[in-house]
Amino acid sequence: MKNKIRKILGCAALAAAFSANIARAADPSTALRIGAVPAWNDGGPAPKLILQITVDQLRGDLPGRYLEHMGDGGFRYLMQHGVWYANAHHAHANTETVVGHTTLATGAHPAAHGMVANVWLDRKTGKLAYNTEDNRYHILTAGAGVDKTAEIDPTQKLAATDGRSPAAILVSTFSDELAIHYAGRSKIFGVSVKDRGAVPLAGHAGKAFWFSKKTGDFVSSTFYYDHYPEWVNEWNKKRLAFQYSGKSWELLNDKSTYLFGAADDKPWEIDFGGYGRVFPHPFGKADSKNYYTLLTISPVGDELTLDFAKTLIEREELGKHAVPDYLSISFSSTDYIGHLFGPSSLEMEDNLLRLDRTLADLLAYVDRHIGLKNTLIVLAADHGAPEAPGYLNELGIEARYLRPEDWDKEPGIAALKKKFGIGQELIRDYEHPYVYLNYDVIRDKGLNQGEVEHAVAEELMKLDGIALAISSTALRENNLPSTPLIDTILRNFNPERSGDIFVVFEPHSFLKEAEGLPAAVTHGSPWRYDTYVPVVFAGGSLSARRIYREIQTVDVATTLAAIVGVKPPSGARGAPLFEVLPGGQASSPRIP
Ligand SMILES: [Zn+2]
Repeated sequence: MKNKIRKILGCAALAAAFSANIARAADPSTALRIGAVPAWNDGGPAPKLILQITVDQLRGDLPGRYLEHMGDGGFRYLMQHGVWYANAHHAHANTETVVGHTTLATGAHPAAHGMVANVWLDRKTGKLAYNTEDNRYHILTAGAGVDKTAEIDPTQKLAATDGRSPAAILVSTFSDELAIHYAGRSKIFGVSVKDRGAVPLAGHAGKAFWFSKKTGDFVSSTFYYDHYPEWVNEWNKKRLAFQYSGKSWELLNDKSTYLFGAADDKPWEIDFGGYGRVFPHPFGKADSKNYYTLLTISPVGDELTLDFAKTLIEREELGKHAVPDYLSISFSSTDYIGHLFGPSSLEMEDNLLRLDRTLADLLAYVDRHIGLKNTLIVLAADHGAPEAPGYLNELGIEARYLRPEDWDKEPGIAALKKKFGIGQELIRDYEHPYVYLNYDVIRDKGLNQGEVEHAVAEELMKLDGIALAISSTALRENNLPSTPLIDTILRNFNPERSGDIFVVFEPHSFLKEAEGLPAAVTHGSPWRYDTYVPVVFAGGSLSARRIYREIQTVDVATTLAAIVGVKPPSGARGAPLFEVLPGGQASSPRIP
């Protein structure tokens, strides 16, 4: 009954917003007559705050799938008051976290922005490089770097130092353009549990904060600050993360009300460090090794991020300046939970109900302090996610985990090595999706790099589970056909950082690990479930629309730049989304 009323009320709100917009379109002087300042999309001044929200691993269909039991003010608010792009995709092949975040930040494809993977082989140093690592700028909090004994994120463990900066991002971000346009007067911040969720969006000119799984603090690096603003120390002194000691992640509602209420314990789910496959999931005591990590594999990670962001908004007085301010918040819990349990799990369902509450809390806070009318909100995701193979198998759909660790010993590859006279390993590194060949061997034998790449790619394509293997020399020399799949690989190709062969698994086939960590699902493919994300614009006087034409995530930063009136970021390739531009609402067809 409650839901029925909510639905009716929702429709009424929609109708009110609809007729209000018609009135505006018919009589542009309405706002003047009642003495109000028009909103940014109604010919008014630029928004006071640009709030860019990213939900890590939120596939495009998930908010709608779990909407029924969501409340008001969060996703439902965005659907009822925002322009919702229901067919938005990343256009690059390697749908990983730093790649997607940087694409959203810059409007550029990875080929230009340079973040082609979470990890790449630096051919100059001969070492694997972690995207935002920068040993010149160490972390500002002593002892808050990565705890390699407890860290579950293998890419983080790979970083040799705790230094972080945006130096590896090769182009400007929208937030950089804001800083350039307004002579550095805009306040610009990026916040996330993950460093790679915070750093790209804060850009080169803003300030980034991320969560230390070692201490439970939000931290930054000497790239951004010599010392913390006082409010950061005060927030960390509250030890908010400590209060979950001995507690568990429990269900928000009665289990019987969930779509996956009867499917909590599934064999493909990962039991990480005693966290279990079923509710309640215990965090353990605050002094236990995985405590802060477990908080991030629960909605608590996002709730802490929200609390920190609210303090930031208040203490930095965002939205109270003569020029627009910018805040990026990337919520990471959905990604960690997705990797362990999959998008079709009781854990994901409960997480999204709680994320919805977190969003509602954030939007209400912004409304009180700045006014949603004065705010330009955009919500998107850095990538989507596949389904766990076991879940698909239960429905009679073929899907599986792959085990490519023995590729170098495959008979085909062994025959190749013999043909080229190679005794050593031919494959130097394999950081999916990129295969890095052993250049020393190729050089010593006087072999042709392109020929070796081509031959290895041909052999890899014969292996079970591999749909496509594309050599970088072929991309560089432009002798491949333009197909939707190859185009995504080309957009991902940066000659300095990309590997020698890009490997695409068959749909619904992937590694049972996310860069070394056991996982129920692993994203990172160019298939539609991994590229599919929500893109929603709200705030100002925008009203509800659902847009079904396909858009790309590179359009987001370009659109923000167009709305605010700054130049597009230096590598931006997106098109402004006319539905959210001033005047765009009235000039394009409305979907009831
Ligand atoms: Zn991610």
